Amino acid sequence: MAYSLLRACPSCGARNRVPAKHLAHTGRCGSCKSPLPPLSEPLDVDQAAFDAITQESPVPVLVDFWAAWCGPCRAAAPQVHELAQSMAGRAVVLKVDTETQPELANRYRVQSIPNFAVFRNGRLLFQQAGLVSASQMRTWLENAAAKVA
Ligand code: ZN
Repeated sequence: MAYSLLRACPSCGARNRVPAKHLAHTGRCGSCKSPLPPLSEPLDVDQAAFDAITQESPVPVLVDFWAAWCGPCRAAAPQVHELAQSMAGRAVVLKVDTETQPELANRYRVQSIPNFAVFRNGRLLFQQAGLVSASQMRTWLENAAAKVA
């Protein structure tokens, strides 16, 4: 079965099933028919969700590899949050906890965190370790979006 996310409707609270490929789209609540806005906050993912979203998202995906014990990761968190808000509808922002998802950290050879990776159409376009600002991350995503698929 295709991966989908349960998202609460901001108007009526009903939980709506949103497929991975529609996370950055405006939908419609199945219950009250109000618009469901695009995802505007970082999403914690496991391997299955990560694979589905990076493969199926029509917009670039930024991944924040982090861990709770990592001070610079905590410093990066508000930047990542701001990015997800400002890029809502144009990008999807994922968070991968390297403690609970070591397979993903290994797959992308994450040795130091925070570590950021940009994907488009399932392909890794860019990866960089270290604390960066939301505006720097926004530039990565805009470059990824501009790239011909
Ligand atoms: Zn609703």
